[in-house]
Amino acid sequence: MTRLFGTNGIRGVVNQDMNSMLALDIGQAWGTHLKKTIAHPRVALGTDARLSNHMLKHAISAGLLSTGCDVVDMGLVPTPALQYAVKQQGYHSGVVITASHNPPEFNGIKGIDGDGTEFSKDTEEDIEHIYFSRDFHLVDWKEVGQFSTWDGALDLYQQGILNVIHAESIRHRRLHVVLDCGHGAGSVITPRLLRELGCTVTELFCMPDGRFPGRPSEPLPENLGKLMQTVVEVGADCGVAQDGDADRAIFIDENGRYLWGDKTLCLVANAILAEQPHGIAVTPVTSSTAFDEVVQKHGATVIHTKVGSPIVARVMIQHHAVFGGEENGGLIFPELQYCRDSAMTIGKVLEIMSKEKRTLSSLVDELPQYETFKIKVYCPNDKKNLLIDTLVQEMKENPEVVSVDTTDGLKLFMKDGWVLLRPSGTEPIFRVYTESKSKQRAQDLAERYKQRTESVLQRI
Ligand code: MG
Repeated sequence: MTRLFGTNGIRGVVNQDMNSMLALDIGQAWGTHLKKTIAHPRVALGTDARLSNHMLKHAISAGLLSTGCDVVDMGLVPTPALQYAVKQQGYHSGVVITASHNPPEFNGIKGIDGDGTEFSKDTEEDIEHIYFSRDFHLVDWKEVGQFSTWDGALDLYQQGILNVIHAESIRHRRLHVVLDCGHGAGSVITPRLLRELGCTVTELFCMPDGRFPGRPSEPLPENLGKLMQTVVEVGADCGVAQDGDADRAIFIDENGRYLWGDKTLCLVANAILAEQPHGIAVTPVTSSTAFDEVVQKHGATVIHTKVGSPIVARVMIQHHAVFGGEENGGLIFPELQYCRDSAMTIGKVLEIMSKEKRTLSSLVDELPQYETFKIKVYCPNDKKNLLIDTLVQEMKENPEVVSVDTTDGLKLFMKDGWVLLRPSGTEPIFRVYTESKSKQRAQDLAERYKQRTESVLQRI
């Protein structure tokens, strides 16, 4: 079946593939889906800071209202704040208009199920089926849905976070934080949350602006130069950057060093499992071996999943996990909710720094250290399955390989590292991830397995 939803909702360039007619039709399909099982669905709606948000939110609202769903507009909110409101207030569904970290010309639609998690595959497939068959059930004039607004989502979310972190320890430490919201949705809550936690806050790009004039929305090292520089200049305890819809957070230590998301993932896992040993932690196969080592040190168990935060969240629910997340700065805290949450991540990291009375660099430097490498190989979409099957067969004969994991793509464990060959769900590429204690070894593995993949592709 043709797909509408990608790994993280529906995305495209505004007024090209992402336009108001599409949003209207999705709204009608979404509402038709909800009405199958719910007599009077209530849907929460929020947006990030993009310029096209109003265009898309009014179009999708019209579709939902036409099928008899009530829509409550919560305005400009981080994605996790909308998810929290859906879960806490018993909405049947949630819509977020966002393209996360994509460039400003993009926008998208993300779906939230009634439990506050991102749409399950079943929900997506049912909406897709209705969308493509255009089997919309429009209601009688008396049953058209009602539209209203609610401005309480940010307060609700902030209080939810304050309820589950040790705010007093953080207030006592009086940290200085440089905060870079990248003009995204985090701007409307993170500065005030940090001040509530007694922090001195130096703000960078903390005004919502859908043109992203300060820096590109993706919190990559090349986009956070100003943040790294400012942390050192003002002598802050740390820096933190959020992506466009504020579900992911990336940290800078007090020396201005960029910390990849797997460092934060390991740091937080270490603290949580120290308090809840023998628990379960969940992460995709792309995460560092450092995570496994940290978790297993506490006698706890790691479950590896396919890539995608909705998958990680659902496996966490199923196994009553105490923690989970991705290596890109998307951490999931079950004590608050089952989704990636940057404000909660910030609160937790500041809590760890405060309780331990240590610098961020010293906390990170004692974690297991691994070097990772990531490159792409071009592969036409129609050859992906054959390529992966052929690689699986050939690697059985490979003497270098100690064990194989096919949870998502093909992961090959060697004595001193691993290689993951994984087809992209959205682009005509294979991603090659490698990891080793040695940077040279990780890089060599990546180059070598890129070449092997290309040579197999030429033969099939
Ligand atoms: Mg995001």
